[in-house]
Amino acid sequence: MQVVKSIVDCVGSTTLIRLGAPSRKTGCEILAKMEFLNPGGSIKDRTALGLIRAAEKSGELRSGGTIVEGTAGNTGIGLTVIGNALGYRTVIFMPATQSQEKINALRLYGADVRLVPAVPYKNPENYVHVSERYAKELNEQQGNVFWANQFDNTANGDFHYATTGQEIWQQTDGEVDGFVFAAGTGGTLSGVGRALKEHKPATTIALSDPTGSGLYSYYAHGEFKVVGTSITEGIGNSRLTRNMATAPIDLAFQIPDEESLPWIHELLRYEGICVGGSSGVNVAGAVRLAGELGPGHTIVTMLCDYGTRYRSKLFNPQFLKEKSLPIPEWLQ
Ligand code: PMP
Repeated sequence: MQVVKSIVDCVGSTTLIRLGAPSRKTGCEILAKMEFLNPGGSIKDRTALGLIRAAEKSGELRSGGTIVEGTAGNTGIGLTVIGNALGYRTVIFMPATQSQEKINALRLYGADVRLVPAVPYKNPENYVHVSERYAKELNEQQGNVFWANQFDNTANGDFHYATTGQEIWQQTDGEVDGFVFAAGTGGTLSGVGRALKEHKPATTIALSDPTGSGLYSYYAHGEFKVVGTSITEGIGNSRLTRNMATAPIDLAFQIPDEESLPWIHELLRYEGICVGGSSGVNVAGAVRLAGELGPGHTIVTMLCDYGTRYRSKLFNPQFLKEKSLPIPEWLQ
């Protein structure tokens, strides 16, 4: 019999797919891991499992414990899906600006969701700080509370090093010339970047950063400077997290929504792949990296989550019109 014992065993080992239009346009092989196939519907199931397993190992999280985290949503969903299967409760702090669909999914799975105003990291009311304070208070009251701290807990990047990075190396038979990704915590870029550089130092590791984030200017010009805005969620940052600090970045691109959204529409309409905003930034970044490397190279990126998670934004003609952003032709 071929059976898995738990949904926890279904995290990772995602399919690598060739993206037709981006490959044809660039003369490169543009490949992407279908991370939306993870049980919680996003790449962040990997982070969630990595953080939980490390906390169990260190003794920070024990049977029946509570996990507290600040998240744009996907890590919260991952922690809750895996937490349900392993017997942990979750308390999830999220900026109120994140999509209603992610909030609904968290509530559906039974997370205790707390929405907080979206304010910068330097403000003590930022969701990351609020979640840390709450975790400390709850731990004093009941004990066995684990603050996951995905941005600065390097168990995040280490899990990507051990899984995502090795999967890419094996699935491409080592024929990978570049990896490009949009960073949130930096866990994926650090883990995959370190793994691929170790196997093949010549691999180019590139950051694909949305407008509204300070990371591009940090890698391109050495200082954090935020330019523009973006409707994408879960990506971009204005500080160097402990995970991002170990990402071996060779190149950085800045991608406006006007460039990433058409890729989302094209993947859906012509390849049947429905993904969220960060995947559009990743594919746009892969096309830019192909331009740098030239035809004949193999570039890997990630399709991070399902587009249905952002239906009220990415596929809402009214919302897009208000923002003067491209509207999918079949929804006009
Ligand atoms: N895409 C989506 C949809 C995400 O939710 C996240 C994480 N918040 C990322 C990309 C970025 O991944 P990482 O945290 O590993 O940088």
